[in-house]
Amino acid sequence: MSLFLVGLFAFGYFASGEVVTADFLVPFPVALVSVAVAVASISAYLFAPSEKLAQITLAIYLGLSANVALLLILTHPINSPFIALWILVSVFAGLFGTRTLIGFLVGVNIYLVSQLFVFHQLDAQSDILIFVLAYEIPVLASWLIWHHKSHPDTQKDKAYSELVRELSQVANKSEIVINAINDGVVAVDSQGTIQLINPAAQSIIGWGKQDALKLDYKSVIKLLNKTGEAVNENTDPIQQVLRTNNPVTTNELQLETSSGKKLLVSVSASPVGQIGAGAIIVFRDITHEKEEERQQAEFISTASHEMRTPVATIEGYLGLALNPNTAAIDEKARDYLTKASASVKHLGNLFQDLLDISRVEDGRLKNNPKVVDLVAFVGEIVSTFDARAKEKGLVLMFKPTTQQNGIGHPLSPVYYVDVDNDHLREVVSNLIENAIKYTLKGNVTVDIIGDATHATLSVHDTGIGIPKEDQVHLFQKFYRVDNSDTRDIGGTGLGLYLCRRLVETMGGRLWLESLYGEGSTFLVEFTRLSHEEATRKIETTPADMM
Ligand code: ADP
Repeated sequence: MSLFLVGLFAFGYFASGEVVTADFLVPFPVALVSVAVAVASISAYLFAPSEKLAQITLAIYLGLSANVALLLILTHPINSPFIALWILVSVFAGLFGTRTLIGFLVGVNIYLVSQLFVFHQLDAQSDILIFVLAYEIPVLASWLIWHHKSHPDTQKDKAYSELVRELSQVANKSEIVINAINDGVVAVDSQGTIQLINPAAQSIIGWGKQDALKLDYKSVIKLLNKTGEAVNENTDPIQQVLRTNNPVTTNELQLETSSGKKLLVSVSASPVGQIGAGAIIVFRDITHEKEEERQQAEFISTASHEMRTPVATIEGYLGLALNPNTAAIDEKARDYLTKASASVKHLGNLFQDLLDISRVEDGRLKNNPKVVDLVAFVGEIVSTFDARAKEKGLVLMFKPTTQQNGIGHPLSPVYYVDVDNDHLREVVSNLIENAIKYTLKGNVTVDIIGDATHATLSVHDTGIGIPKEDQVHLFQKFYRVDNSDTRDIGGTGLGLYLCRRLVETMGGRLWLESLYGEGSTFLVEFTRLSHEEATRKIETTPADMM
């Protein structure tokens, strides 16, 4: 409508008097206001944010109404041919609510009263009638039209605004929680654009909220691997989540802050909704924790190293004292020294385990794989436990060599694996030692089976077994099953942890199957080498490495 008035003004301005009658001339101030209203309407249509649309529409409507009112005032309200425009505009007043409608009525009546009593313009009764018909009736009609129309929607509107209020309350609560969390929280959409960043994340990374929002996460959350190189699409947890929709947690990454400082962080990225829809990233600065862990490990390593030598010396002297060829002692003293010797042995094993663990954990543990014939190698280890098993009244069997073929000869299948022999010895000894230790009667059976690609070693016992709830924790550092069966059996809870770490270092797998009260089987699986591969490797290995 404003554009129409601008057009009419331009037409009147440029065309000759015969084409446009004086009644249709649009005054200059009206044209000016029309331009403003038209520009405002078009801008609002193109750029207005949706949450402010209602207010902006009302403002534009009021602007347009003022525009038409000004036109009518300047072109005579009773005789103007533009009265139709007012009727057109004012019938929409009710759409903007009762307050707007009352405003219109008040405005129209103030004008009427001022014209009647102040300016004495509308003296004739017919003028008043026309004024009421043209200016007041459309406004009242608008009330009837829009009030009637909007009535059935009132309930719906109420429910809608209730919902909006509740949702915004929930949103506010979540925001309060997210803002109060000490961990950094960042939400990214499917494109990896940052949609949310909480204050903790801002202070860890050193980016302000306004700067970080709507940016690609890669320019804000700069993740580096242990060696300080930027993560790639396979190691970036956020990309992994967007690609696979599976949560990823890692403590192995560094984060470069906006000032270039590198922090060790624990990052946990979780998917939102469907695959690739977005991700929530929660991260924490663990630089201090890692440093404390390192110091602890260093202390344990140094202490074990320093204490192992005196313990070995004590062990040696106790051995001499107990040996009838080197010392003469009475039975009582022998009894005491035997007990002391057992405890010192235990202490020595503990220090050895601690040393091995600290080597595994700080990466100092070497892994020198060599081809080994598993059956022969394990068979030798088993035989060193014969005496101990016999002492406890247990039957220790090594199944691969006790298997009988049709004519009664032992069958020894050959399984070649490429592993560190020392680590393998440690693992097998540990498992057999445990099997004997935790079995009161029955037998311990060591077996090796395999297929074309894998060889599996198993250590089975008919011992006390392991309750289901303990099985998940069994390979954790210092974990010991604590029940009436185990209370009197000494141990450190380090053996199985070390075994698993060693097996992992060798590229194998260690797991267990156990029924409480019936026995346990620990299984170790390695990749099997074919006969040809094994021969080739043995031949190409330098003699001094064998
Ligand atoms: P340790 O034997 O020194 O306590 P380990 O790490 O070797 O430590 O074993 C951890 C725990 O697992 C043991 O305390 C024991 O409760 C349980 N366990 C290990 N092997 C067996 C087994 N063969 N039978 C029953 N329980 C076992």
